[in-house]
Amino acid sequence: MTTNVPLLDLKAQFEAIKNEVVPAMMDVVESQAFIMGAPVQELETALANYCGAAEGIACASGTDALLLSLQSLDLQPGDEVITTPFTFFATAGAIHNAGGTAVFVDIDYVTFNLDPMQVAEAVTDRTRAIVPVHLFGQLAAMEPLLVIAERHDLAVIEDAAQAIGAKRKVSGGWKAAGSFGLTGAFSFFPSKNLGAWGDGGMIVTNDGARADRLRRLRTHGGAKQYHHDEIGTNSRLDTLQAAVLLRKLVHLDDWNAARRTRAARYETLFEDIEEVRTPQVDPANEHIFHQYTIRVPRRDDLRDHLKGNGIGCAVYYPKPLHLQPCFSRLGYRSGSMPESERACREVLSLPVHPELAEGQQVHVAEMIGVFYG
Ligand SMILES: *Cc1c(COP(=O)(O)O)cnc(C)c1O
Repeated sequence: MTTNVPLLDLKAQFEAIKNEVVPAMMDVVESQAFIMGAPVQELETALANYCGAAEGIACASGTDALLLSLQSLDLQPGDEVITTPFTFFATAGAIHNAGGTAVFVDIDYVTFNLDPMQVAEAVTDRTRAIVPVHLFGQLAAMEPLLVIAERHDLAVIEDAAQAIGAKRKVSGGWKAAGSFGLTGAFSFFPSKNLGAWGDGGMIVTNDGARADRLRRLRTHGGAKQYHHDEIGTNSRLDTLQAAVLLRKLVHLDDWNAARRTRAARYETLFEDIEEVRTPQVDPANEHIFHQYTIRVPRRDDLRDHLKGNGIGCAVYYPKPLHLQPCFSRLGYRSGSMPESERACREVLSLPVHPELAEGQQVHVAEMIGVFYG
């Protein structure tokens, strides 16, 4: 008998919540207020509160949340922005599109996140900002990064696209992803832990003047209609998506906790398979397991074996950004970011969604055990 285990099961999630979400969507349809209707501001307030930030600014995608944040820094040609090469492309793409030069710094082996020691060494007199990515749902080491930023007067823009609801213990209290930096950028891409039924994004910030600026930038640079203080763009969140997200936000903590339970189960199931290195959680962090990512030898063969047996899995990410053709003129070589390059060879993400049943996890572990014999 074959058991199919999908990497993600959005249809199962939909079945569980459709009676709450579809009527909320229909309310928007009845109102015909598709652009900046009341749910958009409600979601901005709800998400800012959820993260412990003062303001939320909804926009069209996680990519735009990063782009608008970076544009608000008024980068000049040659200005450098430090980030990780082991991330989704949008992180570095947004730096380029905001007029900055991406400077890649290698990751920490244990957490997959920026190594603060190497960030400190990469700062020059052209550095303007640091963009840490909380990869796979675990916060980067924010305290040392904030110290570096303070010392050199750098902005910190958090790429929190994979980390909505993730927390880190600082001086005895929990602080949420997105609330550490000048701004935090979230994505509501459908596969994220809080996913819309289409594209969407949100910026959170504690800086009121920055929030006003970001609201201008997302509506063609003008707070008042037909009056343009500067040149912005059109990057709004649809009212329909805001209505969906407001209903889904209520479930987010439960879903994140369910992911942690599943991660803990894998930890036990993989105890006897010595080839599998399970994800390590920094003791200061509460992980939300957007991805459950193991390191393994013979990764590509294992991936093919699992897929051949109906088990969803994926490589996030197969090629580090410093080796992408579009960044070749930055001058990086194979070998210049050894930990990121190694991660690209070793990582494999397994199903960890809240709907994943225990029996399915046992099956995944058995199939991996069979592979390593
Ligand atoms: C998903 C993601 C983004 C971009 O979000 P979109 O909503 O797809 O534009 C940016 N950074 C990271 C790390 C992501 O995972």
